[in-house]
Amino acid sequence: MTIVVRSAQIKIIYDHAENTYPEECCGILLGKIVGISKTVVEVIPTINAWEKTKLEQTERTKHSRYTIPSRDIFKAQKRGRNLQLDIVGFFHSHPDYPSIPSTCDREQAWEIYSYPIVSVIEGKVSDIKSWVLDADSNFQPEEIWM
Ligand SMILES: [Zn+2]
Repeated sequence: MTIVVRSAQIKIIYDHAENTYPEECCGILLGKIVGISKTVVEVIPTINAWEKTKLEQTERTKHSRYTIPSRDIFKAQKRGRNLQLDIVGFFHSHPDYPSIPSTCDREQAWEIYSYPIVSVIEGKVSDIKSWVLDADSNFQPEEIWM
């Protein structure tokens, strides 16, 4: 599996990740799926609605959890239908943590989507890696073509 993301789109993701540091950022990727390859056409940064949707809060919740508002997912689906695009994935950041999926990331993931994760160390983007679930619901790395 590969995902094609242009450098201008990567920049939108990186800017969102740095601007929201030390909280996790998140967003939606609209694009096309051809065979086993996804091509991102639009990056839609969203707010991280974690604290508004969960009762148990600690000072670290938004630092290590994310929730994309369902309203934004519906809007993206509608926009995708108009542009003949599909939601191909969801990105989020890991502040001061490697770009490796957490147990929580795995539990909320769906097999059809790509999950790019941006590692942000001390406010600066360190790297980005994309992940997809395999048939056993384990994350496998996905190559990003920039
Ligand atoms: Zn995560």
